[in-house]
Amino acid sequence: MNIILTVSGFYSNATDAVAYYKELVMALFSKKDKYIRINPNRSAWKEPQPKPEVPDELFSQCPGCKHTIYQKDLGSERVCPNCGYTFRISAKERLALTVDPASFEEMFTGIETTDPLNFPNYKKKLAAVREMTGLDEAVLTGTALIKGQKVALGIMDSNFIMASMGSVVGEKITRLFEFATNEKLPVVLFTASGGARMQEGIVSLMQMAKISAAVQRHSKEKLFYLTVLTDPTTGGVTASFAMEGDIIMAESQALVGFAGRRVIESTVREKLPDDFQKAEFLQEHGFVDLIVERSQIRATVGQLLALHGGKHE
Ligand SMILES: [Zn+2]
Repeated sequence: MNIILTVSGFYSNATDAVAYYKELVMALFSKKDKYIRINPNRSAWKEPQPKPEVPDELFSQCPGCKHTIYQKDLGSERVCPNCGYTFRISAKERLALTVDPASFEEMFTGIETTDPLNFPNYKKKLAAVREMTGLDEAVLTGTALIKGQKVALGIMDSNFIMASMGSVVGEKITRLFEFATNEKLPVVLFTASGGARMQEGIVSLMQMAKISAAVQRHSKEKLFYLTVLTDPTTGGVTASFAMEGDIIMAESQALVGFAGRRVIESTVREKLPDDFQKAEFLQEHGFVDLIVERSQIRATVGQLLALHGGKHE
């Protein structure tokens, strides 16, 4: 082996330097512990560890502008400060933004599905989602005051099996309308839904007709019904009570439709516009009366209630 060395003034003479490097090189090739060390942890196989993640409660990526947003900057309304994107919120967050403090009285709790199809794991899933959301079903129902006016209120929560409409959701909303009809109250309903609940099959679809009949009885008494479409409102909910409001409000950019984009595109064999099924598109085509920023919803609902004979408590 020939090694070429450049010798600097550090060594007293070239012979010393050659001797030193010879020793060093030989040691390296003979892997003497003096010069090299094997880190047993470095090459050993380890189970892949989950990547350290920023906890959800600290940061979110905005689906609108893709910026990483500090949660606190979203505020209680959960609107992106950069682009105005409106994040989905839970029924309880919605309640806090909408009603007069401490005025909500929950009604129609404790109703349970009989699991008519004996759908595998459905009851277990319901129990887990109840635990996770603190809700007993995908819609929160009761009475509340909004700007001092009493309403029968329903708020659907997409965290609960995508707010799919099963027999309990149908029953709660029907009872809400029946109660409002008897008590001569307006109904305010915040809709969100992925559609009918497949775990309950045809029983889910029957809810559309059941609720619509209750809406009609309420309407015949000349009582006011206001819907606020929130992201996403789809399927059987859109095909029934969501679009039956006397006034239909929507949140900006909310997805509102019956069948999904891909289903329609493959049926009509046409490319649909990018904003198809967005609240703005629906407003342009006459399906939505007004689009309201989240920060203005409480005031707007209060004003509409007053215009439609809202009674102050
Ligand atoms: Zn944004």
